[in-house]
Amino acid sequence: MLVAGNWKMYKGTSETVEFCTALAERLEAIDGVDVAVCPPYTALAAAVRTLAGTEIAVAAQNVHWAEEGAYTGEISAPMLRELGVYGAIVGHSERRQYFGETDETVARRAEAGLDAGLHMIACVGETGPERKGGQTEAVLRRQVSVLRPDDNLVIAYEPVWAIGTGLSATPELAQEAHALIKSLLEVPVLYGGSVKPENAAELLAQPAVDGALVGGASLDVESFVAICEAAARTPR
Ligand code: PEP
Repeated sequence: MLVAGNWKMYKGTSETVEFCTALAERLEAIDGVDVAVCPPYTALAAAVRTLAGTEIAVAAQNVHWAEEGAYTGEISAPMLRELGVYGAIVGHSERRQYFGETDETVARRAEAGLDAGLHMIACVGETGPERKGGQTEAVLRRQVSVLRPDDNLVIAYEPVWAIGTGLSATPELAQEAHALIKSLLEVPVLYGGSVKPENAAELLAQPAVDGALVGGASLDVESFVAICEAAARTPR
């Protein structure tokens, strides 16, 4: 089980140090779950420093496909490695929706991260209209088909209609989508989309759910810890 917290564009350096210090204390006694936090780029170094010597990993929210070059505003995998960062998310629906990310750019970013030795979380998921239009399977097949299996690759199934809406997928619906994804690529699949302490246990109990990618509820130490505890309690 892996629980990763996607902080999006929240928390600067000082809040990151405060959060990571508290998180490390609260998770010290918990076994049976891998935990990662994904702060904004500017707070990565502080998170790595604060969590050094703990089991909690630090991942970025994106990574570019080139090692270096004329790509204003981008960050490469070797730059993340140099900071001591463990991995990165790619293809989050907010990147696809607001920043023109496509299946092809997501695949290139994932590939570059894997080649550089990063652990990658590649996000996939259908929009509300795609689900209503009966296109969920086709969308997931298309998004997953560009990714290659790798020991360091994890997929996050994040139905876009469930992200930040408070409306999570039902456990049955998550199970169905995860089973499909796993039939296409043999990698762990995290569920993301309004995961909270109240619904974490039943989502994580599904056999094809290997953990959670948590947005809003990862910004508060207590709610994030409660989700990590639910994961640790889930039999596997
Ligand atoms: C996310 O941003 O990856 C996410 C799942 O957000 P939330 O948990 O807030 O829905």
